[in-house]
Amino acid sequence: MNVNDLKEYQKKERTYEIHLFRRFDSNTTPGAGFSFEVDQDGVAIGIDANEARLANWRGCISGEFDVTDQGVVEEEWIIDVPASGVCSCGERVELTDGLENYCSKCGTCYNLSGQKVLGRAAWERAGGSSLAGEVWDEEA
Ligand SMILES: [Zn+2]
Repeated sequence: MNVNDLKEYQKKERTYEIHLFRRFDSNTTPGAGFSFEVDQDGVAIGIDANEARLANWRGCISGEFDVTDQGVVEEEWIIDVPASGVCSCGERVELTDGLENYCSKCGTCYNLSGQKVLGRAAWERAGGSSLAGEVWDEEA
């Protein structure tokens, strides 16, 4: 049994990103308001790309809208990157499922550990004589 049939195996990773938002809470509708992602200097990011957002931004900072400026608030985003490895065909396969992770190029199936396994469909075609998800040994 191979420990891992994928090359360049990368373990599952969790990273964190801090994003800054300038928040304005509505004074008339509790729970509603506006939130704009800003940079370190409090300048709204990409605000010019969208006219409606730009109008909302101007409405908030000018005092035209009935809102309370909450200032810049920090949000921590959790970024989960699944484990992955390179299939024998050269395609990178992400391992997110416990039993079946198919290569999008050649269709080879891997389990969560990166071991080549028979996928459910192949297992059924083979008559179901072994357990789905069982490690696939081509030499057997
Ligand atoms: Zn492949």
